[in-house]
Amino acid sequence: MDSPWRLGQYSLSSACEIAPPIALDSNRFASESSEIIKFTQLLASFPYDPETWLNRGNCLRLLGYPELALGDVYKARLLVEAGIGDSRTVLGDQVRKAFRKKTYELHTTDPAWMKWTHTVSTPELLAQKVQEMLKRLELQIWTELMEGLMAANCCGDYARMSREAVEKFPHDEFFPSEVSNADAWYAQRKEVLMMAVEDGQMNEERMTTTLMNGGVYPVPYPFMSEEFLVRDAQVFESIEEDFKRVSTNCMVIRSTIRNTLAGEGEKAITEDDCIGAHATRDIVAGETILIDTMSSGSVGVDADPAGCPTCCASPVKNFWNTCCSVLYCSQVCADVASKTFHAPICDRDFEYLYAAARSATATTDFSLDALLLMRVLAISMVEGTEHPLKSKLLVRLTPAYGFKEPNLIIFNFQDHIQMPISILQTLGINIFTDSSYDTWVLHTIKCRLQNNKHGQTLGDWPGTSISGLYSMLNHSCSPNVDWRHDSASSEVTMFTTRDCKKGEELCISYIGSLGNCMTVVERRKKLMGWFGMACRCEKCLEESNV
Ligand SMILES: [Zn+2]
Ligand SMILES: [Zn+2]
Ligand SMILES: [Zn+2]
Repeated sequence: MDSPWRLGQYSLSSACEIAPPIALDSNRFASESSEIIKFTQLLASFPYDPETWLNRGNCLRLLGYPELALGDVYKARLLVEAGIGDSRTVLGDQVRKAFRKKTYELHTTDPAWMKWTHTVSTPELLAQKVQEMLKRLELQIWTELMEGLMAANCCGDYARMSREAVEKFPHDEFFPSEVSNADAWYAQRKEVLMMAVEDGQMNEERMTTTLMNGGVYPVPYPFMSEEFLVRDAQVFESIEEDFKRVSTNCMVIRSTIRNTLAGEGEKAITEDDCIGAHATRDIVAGETILIDTMSSGSVGVDADPAGCPTCCASPVKNFWNTCCSVLYCSQVCADVASKTFHAPICDRDFEYLYAAARSATATTDFSLDALLLMRVLAISMVEGTEHPLKSKLLVRLTPAYGFKEPNLIIFNFQDHIQMPISILQTLGINIFTDSSYDTWVLHTIKCRLQNNKHGQTLGDWPGTSISGLYSMLNHSCSPNVDWRHDSASSEVTMFTTRDCKKGEELCISYIGSLGNCMTVVERRKKLMGWFGMACRCEKCLEESNV
């Protein structure tokens, strides 16, 4: 975050419906972003100072990035909570130490504060002062949390947490009005959504999700350098190598499928970073084109408590690794686990994730996303890449950026701020000192997974997975490739559904067989989340006469 902030790359992620976000002008952009750079550098030296996290969070919200702001402010909250009171924790000691130094310096060197030097003149007085300052800071943190939740459109969280704030700060005059604001917003949103349900525009389930959650747009952040935005030649070559290893009849290509010609009042779009796959010889219907295995980047998780950690097959048998008593369905799965993801999670207590996943009823349940995130983080830790976004799997996945009509990333405080931070902590990562797992990294991982994961029900258990090779195939509404996930295996097998000529692009359908009974208008609406523009596959072009 302390890389240069580029104005040309500035687009807001906030999608607040009650106070629509406004982009800062170039002067304010420059001043807020330079503050962020300053705070980021300060955090590198003083990671346990909650005030700096709060200040950086405030700047991030003003710039229009509430998901990043909330991450910082939540860290500030964790620090303040650790620092307040007498409980002796390592973190609490670090916070008090950082704040003691700061408070002492403020009262002894800042002319505005020097008249109160006597209030810090003994260690006891100083300790008391530190507690006072931390309590004052806690109030500011909660105030900023409310602002962040509003900017992230989190109506449900805002209503819940403003009530918590009233309980926590009973003497504060400000929070009761937050509760009434939140309630009014909630009631208003509910009314609008109920009308949409009555009109048949959405079902009750979708209504509840929309009512309870907020959302942010997936955006490339202005401080992200090229290396985090495009898949370079080296990445492309490594995908080519994988294709060579697992397939004899198809190869990855730089695809032009997303390019559009200039239309009336519209510019031509050339998307250099679009990748696809094509047939390297004539292929007959039913032939396998490639098998993606865990070792080349296929990751699946599901809610089955008796499932194999590697491939989700159930039940497990007497196959295990020497490190612990976790069982697998086969020796192959046990080996894959020990080579790819098991070490960072071995003997760490992730029961809170598994317990939540066990009650999942749909493949889109957030608890499955949490399991997937944990797995992907563990894989990148084992790989030891310089940065998690550059791990072999994540570096290949693109998020849905830069679209005319981007789909919101569903967002709430528990699943998108608190849970990822808990996962990092359980993995033993220091969330305050390790900037390679900063909130922007977690959110970028989220955006990449969101755009590439596919849900599947295995047995009766909902699951979700990411497949590094499958993700390279583009979409068509009349696809020539389909896939299957065989049980008791982590393999995803892709096969042709009709004869394909050499050179033909191989495509799957991102909406599965559902698409077959939809009109072109319905399909294009459904696909908007992936493309951000109308699907331009052959079938859609034909049916829409465009
Ligand atoms: Zn297995
Ligand atoms: Zn183990
Ligand atoms: Zn189409």
